[in-house]
Amino acid sequence: MAYELNDKLKNLVPYKPLEGEYDIRLDANESFVALPQDILDDAMGNFDLSKINRYPDPYATDLCEAFGKYYNVKPKYVTAGNGSDELIGVIMSGFFSKDDLVLTLSHDFSMYAFYAEIYELNHQVYQKDPETLEVDMTRLIAYINENNVKGIIFSNPCNPTSLCMPSDEIFRLVTSVNALVILDEAYMDFAPKSCIGEGYKYDNLIILRTCSKALGLASIRLGFAVANSTLTKAIQSLKAPYNVNSITQAIGAKVYRKAIHLYECHAKITRARDHLRRSLMNLDGSIIEKLFDTSANFIFMRTSYASEMHARLLERSIAIRLMGDYLRITVGTIKENEAFLTEFKDISDELLSQGKYCEIDESAKVKTISDIASTVNKGGNNA
Ligand SMILES: *Cc1c(COP(=O)(O)O)cnc(C)c1O
Repeated sequence: MAYELNDKLKNLVPYKPLEGEYDIRLDANESFVALPQDILDDAMGNFDLSKINRYPDPYATDLCEAFGKYYNVKPKYVTAGNGSDELIGVIMSGFFSKDDLVLTLSHDFSMYAFYAEIYELNHQVYQKDPETLEVDMTRLIAYINENNVKGIIFSNPCNPTSLCMPSDEIFRLVTSVNALVILDEAYMDFAPKSCIGEGYKYDNLIILRTCSKALGLASIRLGFAVANSTLTKAIQSLKAPYNVNSITQAIGAKVYRKAIHLYECHAKITRARDHLRRSLMNLDGSIIEKLFDTSANFIFMRTSYASEMHARLLERSIAIRLMGDYLRITVGTIKENEAFLTEFKDISDELLSQGKYCEIDESAKVKTISDIASTVNKGGNNA
């Protein structure tokens, strides 16, 4: 007798972030702004070490209050999670039954498809427009209603496309379908189009937020779900009781009460982002074939030189994200962005002068969106 892993697990490999030491890391969409020492001291000063033998507050009451106050949402509609990644898993495992039809979009955050597969849902990937990477909402709504779709999960602003749909389009979706809409607003602090304030009004909408991107707290693992009372009760019943540790609760609560610090973070990051995007736009003659608008803390571009650019930047100790014919560059400090720009320009000139562009078989360049999706999935897109 021998124990064998099931088919689902046999070929599964653990998620591996980029290995190796690189001087400049622009590949994981983290914030480049450090948490000010006084906020950290303040949070830790209030942390009661004598209670370290006790479990944390299962509902993270104080933290959810601070979050609710910052976003103008009643705390009773808020659930904290061990990163929004945990909440995505919890929601997808509990709200759907095996074989329920659940849609993810392509391109989008790869963890959605991962959980859909692991929980054995009937998972379909809905393709965005192959050229613009935008979603035609009318078409999407019709698809959901015609196919009895039970749930849809997507990010807005989208990782990796950096595009943002307006909130009235999202509400149109929510009110036009019976499906559960899981709206991941991981990057919404960079774009003023949030649905969060009105999330509680709908019986089929869950909004997710994270502290890992705009707030610069990726290491403490903290995310939130906002939804009406019925959905919130379901999420709270599904989650592990003590999912958010007490140190994370203390730091998170303190940071959400420092609104000024958070506004400064967003301003610094969006300024650096706009500067970086303008500089890329103003390069004359580069490998960039399309530079997308950005509502996030990263920049997304299409180039048939993506893999060469990615590899050569790594040789120069700069890490960015490669996804098929696309590159995703997280905004770094002004110094990091300047270094990136210099090397990008240099490599771009090198690649263009090698004339490789002309040698490319034009038919090979036209890829279908599903080719791209499969490359994206292989390459992963976990952060
Ligand atoms: C980074 C990211 C997350 C993960 O957030 P955590 O809170 O760190 O788990 C979720 N969704 C999207 C779209 C992301 O890009």
